[in-house]
Amino acid sequence: MKIQMVDMLAGYPPIREEIETAVRNVFNKANFILGEEVKKFEAEFAAHNGARYCVGVANGTDALRMAYIAGGIKPGDEVITSPFTFIATSETLSQIGAVPVFADIDPVTYTLDPKSVEKKITKKTRALVPVHLYGHPCDMDALLALAKKHNLIVIEDTAQAFTAKYRPGGKDWKYLGTLGHCGTFSFFPAKNLGAFGDGGAVLTNDDNIYATLIQLRNHGSKARYHHEMEGFNSRLDTVQAAVLSIRLKHVEKWTEMRNEVAKKYAERLKDVCVTPFVPANCRHSFNYYTLRFDSKEKRDNAQKHLTEQGIANQIYYPIALHLQEAYKRLGGKRGDLPACDSAMDAVFSLPMYPELTDEQINVITDKVKEAVKIKVK
Ligand SMILES: *Cc1c(COP(=O)(O)O)cnc(C)c1O
Repeated sequence: MKIQMVDMLAGYPPIREEIETAVRNVFNKANFILGEEVKKFEAEFAAHNGARYCVGVANGTDALRMAYIAGGIKPGDEVITSPFTFIATSETLSQIGAVPVFADIDPVTYTLDPKSVEKKITKKTRALVPVHLYGHPCDMDALLALAKKHNLIVIEDTAQAFTAKYRPGGKDWKYLGTLGHCGTFSFFPAKNLGAFGDGGAVLTNDDNIYATLIQLRNHGSKARYHHEMEGFNSRLDTVQAAVLSIRLKHVEKWTEMRNEVAKKYAERLKDVCVTPFVPANCRHSFNYYTLRFDSKEKRDNAQKHLTEQGIANQIYYPIALHLQEAYKRLGGKRGDLPACDSAMDAVFSLPMYPELTDEQINVITDKVKEAVKIKVK
């Protein structure tokens, strides 16, 4: 049985008609750039998350870049983030002249360890960028307390965690991406809310950040050919906005289905390897479902076995950022961030999407069980 990491078409039939009509409408109106569908989706996405403002942008990477600028990060500023993430989180910092500083992660949640973050804070530190990896909320209570104490901006990389929730201070549930100054989102097809192409968004409750983002995404202009600043060409495409509005109506149900898949995976694998931990004050979005093995050899064996059996799998991420060639200049080496170093050697992710069937889950988990019995060479 061949099983993909993500099957974008599995959930398509029930919404095909609605989506194709919406797309045809945009074609017929030809309002391709910042059409009314973009405004409509922005209002819906902000309301869904309980945020005041949403700015639709071209992708999740640009969402980060523009949130950094709008949030006030300047050339030379140090920004503390996770080394265990996709490079989009940090390359956009370097590209605006800021310096990414990698702190270690928590070995259980794979997200920023506030104790390590605190040790990295200097006079030059301007911002924290928590990454809600795989859809697991960061320890936001501790990170927000640090930010308050040191007067830091907080920009949440929520690319993998739309629909994930957290209870700040144990109180009311809040959507991730609404706890810091800005939250950035990606609508890359494989994320929880996938477009039929690239897309992204920034959420904020701050009037000034919002006003700056609106300008930044459109060449720094409010009125055509009047540029108060330099900006980018990074608008959310109208066709994608039309698709996203429709998919948004289903996304909570899809996250519930992902959580059901996760429960079944955990039930069948709990004695075999480490399954994801979900604390009581968190709702996981399960963008990815990540297992941890007790050695690199066991992990590599499991990966090889699943691949041979036609079951897709992926290591997010095999080389942490502090060890990447691109960051040689920062001088990172193995041993600097031990929890991250050992996580990247021990994890791998199974197929995860809402429509995974019990039969598929059984096949996948059986293969993982077989794999751990294979003798480690
Ligand atoms: C996907 C992703 C991004 C980038 O989003 P794009 O839409 O692909 O540009 C940024 N950060 C993280 C953690 C991601 O997973």
